[in-house]
Amino acid sequence: MSVSIVSLPPGVQAEMLYFNIKCLEPVYLGSQKLYGLFRESAPILRGTRILGLLAKNIERHPHAPELYNLLLEDESALVVYDALPNVDQRSDEVVQISATNGAVIPMPITAQTCKCLPGFHRSWKDKSDKDKPHGVWDTLLSLWTERNPITSCPKCHSGIDAFTGYALHVPQPDEDLYIYCEQHQERRAHSARNRRTDTAAQGMLYTNRLIPAYSDFWLQILVRGRNETELERRKTNLLELLTGTHKLGGGLSRGLGTVEIKQREPDSPDYPTIASRINSFNKMLAEVYNISNGKLFFSVTLLSRGLPELEGRLPLANSQELHDALFPELKGCTLEFFQHRFGQFSGWSLSWQLPKPAIPYITEGSVYLFSTYQSIDALLPTFEALEHYGMGECRNEGFGRVEICAPFHTEVKPV
Ligand SMILES: [Zn+2]
Repeated sequence: MSVSIVSLPPGVQAEMLYFNIKCLEPVYLGSQKLYGLFRESAPILRGTRILGLLAKNIERHPHAPELYNLLLEDESALVVYDALPNVDQRSDEVVQISATNGAVIPMPITAQTCKCLPGFHRSWKDKSDKDKPHGVWDTLLSLWTERNPITSCPKCHSGIDAFTGYALHVPQPDEDLYIYCEQHQERRAHSARNRRTDTAAQGMLYTNRLIPAYSDFWLQILVRGRNETELERRKTNLLELLTGTHKLGGGLSRGLGTVEIKQREPDSPDYPTIASRINSFNKMLAEVYNISNGKLFFSVTLLSRGLPELEGRLPLANSQELHDALFPELKGCTLEFFQHRFGQFSGWSLSWQLPKPAIPYITEGSVYLFSTYQSIDALLPTFEALEHYGMGECRNEGFGRVEICAPFHTEVKPV
C-alpha cells in the first residue's frame, strides 16, 4: 500500500511497512543507571532502539558498507516510529478485536476519566456491571471554550483524573471504539557480585522492571526512495535485516531480550481522511460549543515525543514564540490554545562514568489548537506534509510524529 501524498517531490516514492514484534523472552527497556536500585522499564519500544538494532544488523552483514549507504546515510530514507503495545494483556476480549486492525494511539494529555472506575467502557468486559469502567472523554474543546466542562464523573459523580497510556482506535460506522493497550510488567531482582572479593558489590541489590515474554508490539516504518527501484531495494533489504529473531534491550547475557519481528497486514485501511477529520472537528465546535465565526479550526496532536532541538530556545515566553519555534509551517494560522508537557532524556555514560546531558523534549499527547481564515483545500498540502514528514529534528528515530484533528478530540462524552 503506497502512502498517497501530494507534496512528495517528483519521483519520490514512499511506503509504510507494518511489523509485529513478539517478545520470546522478557525484555528490559529501561536505561543504564549507576547505583539505581529500582529501574523502570519504558512502556513502549522507542524508534531509536529499533534503529539501533537495524544498525547492529547492518554492521554484522557481509555487505555492510552498501547497506549503510542504502538505508542509513540518507536520513530521509527510513522513519522508524515507536512500537506501541497492541492489546491490553489483561483482557481476553481484546485479542479478537485486534484482528480488525485499528491504529494504536497515545492518549492526548487532555483525556480524562472517572477516578473510581477509570477506563474505556468496553475494557474488562468480564467484570460485573457495577465494576465496569465509567468511560474516557476529551477536554480539549471544553478547556479552550470554557463551555460544557465535565467536572465530575457523569455516572457516579466522583472526582475525575487524567487518563494516560495507549489505546487501539477502531473506527466504526456509528461510534468509534477504543481499547486500552498496556503491557504487563514484571519485576526481577539481581545482585551484583564483586569478582575480586566474591562479595556483593556496592549498589548490590537492584530490581529491574521487565516486559514479560509473549508481549506484543506494533511497529511501523516509513520507507522512501528517490524512485521506484530505490524504494524496492530499500524495502527488500530492510525486511531481510529486520524480520526474524533478534536481541533487544538490556541484560542480553542474562536470558533477556529475544524478540521475533514479523511483517503484518496494514493498520485500518479505512481510517478517516484529514479533510473528513477537520470537518468533524469543526462540526462539533459549531454544534456543541456554538463556535462558527467563519474561521476554520484544527488541532495538531503529537503521536510521539518531539522537538529535542528546543533546548537553546527555552523558555518559550508567549504563544507567538511557541508558534514560531514549533510550527514555522503554519505561519498564516493563529495558535489559539495548547496543552503540552515537557519531558527530558538523560542517562549515565558507562564509558565516561558521567551523567549524560539532559535534553528536553515535548511529550507525546501534547496538543495545539489553531484557527485560520484559509480554506481546507488551501491548507491540505501543508497538513499532508506535516503528517507525512512530522516536525522538528530526529524524525527518522520516530520523533515529531503528528496527527491533524485526531478523532479522539471529538469524543466529548465518555467512550
Ligand atoms: Zn465514575
